[in-house]
Amino acid sequence: MPRHYNIPLFIPHLGCPFKCIFCNQNKIASSQGVPAVSGLTAIIDEHLSTIADDGGNTEIAFFGGSFTAIDHELQKKYLAAVQPYLKSGRIGSIRISTRPDYIDDGILNFLGSYGVKTIELGAQSLCDEVLKASGRGYSRDDVFKASHHIKSLGFKLGLQLMTGLPGDNYERDLGSARQAAALNPDLVRIYPTLVIADTPLERLFYEHKYVPLSLPEAIAICKDMFLVFQQHGIDVIRMGLQPGEELRSPGTVVAGPFHPSFGELVEQEVFKEQAGMAIYDYREKAGLKPELALMVHEKDISKMTGHRKSSLLFLKNRFQLESLKVKAHPDLARDTVAVASATDSNPVFTLTRKEFLSVKSRG
Ligand code: SF4
Repeated sequence: MPRHYNIPLFIPHLGCPFKCIFCNQNKIASSQGVPAVSGLTAIIDEHLSTIADDGGNTEIAFFGGSFTAIDHELQKKYLAAVQPYLKSGRIGSIRISTRPDYIDDGILNFLGSYGVKTIELGAQSLCDEVLKASGRGYSRDDVFKASHHIKSLGFKLGLQLMTGLPGDNYERDLGSARQAAALNPDLVRIYPTLVIADTPLERLFYEHKYVPLSLPEAIAICKDMFLVFQQHGIDVIRMGLQPGEELRSPGTVVAGPFHPSFGELVEQEVFKEQAGMAIYDYREKAGLKPELALMVHEKDISKMTGHRKSSLLFLKNRFQLESLKVKAHPDLARDTVAVASATDSNPVFTLTRKEFLSVKSRG
């Protein structure tokens, strides 16, 4: 498959009139600044100099929250600045992210006329109580309307969800994932809520009116949301915020489930659960053996092993094994877990992700 490249252009939403409780928009804006339209070419050229000409597989991504809510003339200038790259074929398409309440016919026609192909909506939740408590200023219905609108005009739809917002709980997060999956987006991102310095959420946290998710809680919720999307064949392209310099600088994250490899931790949990099911089924077939081996694709070894071998240790204890190893097997596809005795060189029982999800969905 040809490789896909993204050239990210961060456009902070300066002067944002909204008051999302978790957002530190001023800090982000003042530290990064808004790129001058005249400076876009230099940023794009620098990225392109590191990417081989890939026949238009490179995309320019305007990130930073709410592209369609910034001044219309400025949107035009940004989009106009990248047109020469689209026309020459060096860039294949443009992606933007925005709020669900800043989508209508006029906006979509405008974006389409400038070659925007993907629109990511910062939905965050599909529960009205959570959206209200988070100060988002729109409802679940707005997300539905915007999503249908985007898809009906032929754009690719991305949905961004957050977990652990004020008023949230496991059922509401999972409900948001199920409703989002029903909208059939082309891609999804899931971000656990962090308490960022100088936000209303920080104040609530210090007043003991908001308790963030712990890291294990956030991993457990995101794992089940991730599996909802996998069940529907929907790509989850990111879990957890990008651990950029800003986020890592001391004092920025006050509390919450921050981990630089959050997505990897979630996928390790998925592998652990899938391997538990595989070992159980293997035992039904092959009987109790004290020394077992789990086999996976070579690129899935760390996902199967877990952080500091935590998944292997957990499974070894749970099944009271004398030893449990993980090995790469060349015949296994990604996301597949196979089980054999420690001395076997080939899998005896194999469980694909699809089979795992199908058993899980039957409860
Ligand atoms: S998260 Fe909310 S407050 Fe922050 S930039 Fe986006 S819309 Fe504005």
